[in-house]
Amino acid sequence: MGKTALAIGANTFQCFVRNPRGARAKATDPADLERLRVLMAENGFGPIVAHAPYIMNPCSKDDGIRRLAEKMMREDLALLEYLPGNYYNFHPGSHVGQGVEAGSRLIAEMLDRVLTPEQHTVVLLETMAGKGSEIGGRFEELRQILDQVALPEKVGVCMDTCHMSDGGYDVIGDLDGVLAEFDRAVGLDRLYAVHINDSMNPPGSRKDRHARIGEGTLGTETIVRFLTHPALRHLPFVLETPTDDAGHGEEIALLRSLAENA
Ligand code: FE
Ligand code: FE
Ligand code: ZN
Repeated sequence: MGKTALAIGANTFQCFVRNPRGARAKATDPADLERLRVLMAENGFGPIVAHAPYIMNPCSKDDGIRRLAEKMMREDLALLEYLPGNYYNFHPGSHVGQGVEAGSRLIAEMLDRVLTPEQHTVVLLETMAGKGSEIGGRFEELRQILDQVALPEKVGVCMDTCHMSDGGYDVIGDLDGVLAEFDRAVGLDRLYAVHINDSMNPPGSRKDRHARIGEGTLGTETIVRFLTHPALRHLPFVLETPTDDAGHGEEIALLRSLAENA
């Protein structure tokens, strides 16, 4: 993971600590994480983001699915203690008809059972496209979760540029306005990382299909505005665009040169 990041000109990256689609895949070896920690320190990496499996749904109606989410998060966070000072991002979940109120309570309750004052990882709620009964399509929904957790210093937010546009926030026409709204609803001090993706769909579509940089409806200019915005530029930016390592390397080179000249 770290070597690939170096090879393509990155100084942060996102990874899974288990199979992204399944709970039963073989977990990451702590020795690998120790090697990664050294490589990151030697090469001046910023904080990295571990992404929870997509199947995790802490606000499911099904108690077995909720227990599985809790187990996965607990195991993943234990593993991340080998890489102190980084982030663990998860999709808040889908409330499947129970409503945002009940859903956000379930999420906060799970976080309260899993998080400890001693842990060295900040857990991030991702801004979502608002597809189906997904929680997190509105900034206020994230706020509701943040307001209920017992250890607020261990919980923050990760923005996703594709999701925000798909969710109806006008990041193309008024990024300043969107960030001001985020600051009012959540607080920019709770923002730890950004997923920079273009979108295959028009603003407000609630679809969540990522596009490569320059190939979507946001456009490269909007992406560069995120990268260079004074409220964001200190944060780790991670690509989740549909391409391979070489493609990500090209996107990084392009965005670096555009951001430097912006
Ligand atoms: Fe995600
Ligand atoms: Fe994302
Ligand atoms: Zn997405």
